[in-house]
Amino acid sequence: MGNDSMVIKYWGVRGSIPAPLTNGQEKEKQCANFMDVIKRGGTSELFGNDADAPGLAEKIMQFLNNQPKSLAGTYGGDTTCLEIQARDSPLIILDAGSGIRALGNVLLGRLFSENNLNPLDSDQERKHDLHLFFSHYHWDHIQGFPFFGPAFIPGDKKVNIHFYGKKNAKTRLSDALKGQQEYPLFPVGWKAMPCKKTYKELGRIASTEIPVGKVVVKYAELDHPDRVLGYSMGIGGKKFVCATDTEHRAIEDPFLIELAKDADILYYDAQYTPEEYSGKEGPSKVRWGHSTFELAVKTALAANVDTVVLGHHEPTRSDFKVEELMENALEFRNECLRLPGNEGKALNVVMAYQGLEQRL
Ligand SMILES: [Zn+2]
Ligand SMILES: [Zn+2]
Repeated sequence: MGNDSMVIKYWGVRGSIPAPLTNGQEKEKQCANFMDVIKRGGTSELFGNDADAPGLAEKIMQFLNNQPKSLAGTYGGDTTCLEIQARDSPLIILDAGSGIRALGNVLLGRLFSENNLNPLDSDQERKHDLHLFFSHYHWDHIQGFPFFGPAFIPGDKKVNIHFYGKKNAKTRLSDALKGQQEYPLFPVGWKAMPCKKTYKELGRIASTEIPVGKVVVKYAELDHPDRVLGYSMGIGGKKFVCATDTEHRAIEDPFLIELAKDADILYYDAQYTPEEYSGKEGPSKVRWGHSTFELAVKTALAANVDTVVLGHHEPTRSDFKVEELMENALEFRNECLRLPGNEGKALNVVMAYQGLEQRL
């Protein structure tokens, strides 16, 4: 913890619309978990017979923590929101999907305990500053903002939000956000939120570097209906890249390869399986704006990335199916690594889940 340059926390990794677990899915998990416990010798074998034994709850919790998320826990139902804590820099948030609601609650705690919003920053001047970057304005990437608690705090704990998003001929960044709070869509209007708001619209010429404290932010316009911005965040030789809601064409996107060059971590849109994407299973998803684990792996290898994180999960995909997809992704990665030209290369593949934390 002490020497981290950057901590990335995933508050929402579901694509398109929030997808909470259903009763049926919850019971399916419980059932699979019970079966697994029985297979391993039953509860008395694993935990003993004394329900009052000291530390029993911790022991069971430890067991559950080691289970796959299909059995205990979940990959999560909230839509896109990532928190980036970088050393000696103000807090950065990527996208305001429904995941930003829970992040807001944690930030309220930091605000009211007089702490800096970014635990890795001690600068008192900007302790209430945050920089919120939008990939684009599709609803699943802005819908959480009306429920972002810190934006409602007036007075000496007022937060100072810098909004960044792509310049768009048809709408302003501020209008996209205001619009979802207009009558009759939401009871509290945009202006009634006391936070300080400043806006920066990012043009298509993506050579500009945006300094946020010690972080250098770069961006590139990527393929998606109405286009999308991918962001790279660099600090002290470490680099994180977010490419959510992006589609490849016939090959890996050269703009993304350039943006993600030598990154430590690339978060990539792997909403569809290759079969779903091509239309072998269900209607073809070509031009729907999302990609596959195959292109995640190929792009990461082409850009010399260390770790690729698969996200923007398809809302209809159960946790069991997410794990199936992960197995296929690992198999594909291994196949790719055996190809000529990839000798000696390595690539970590991580399945994104709500609550995932990565340290650089
Ligand atoms: Zn999306
Ligand atoms: Zn989108």
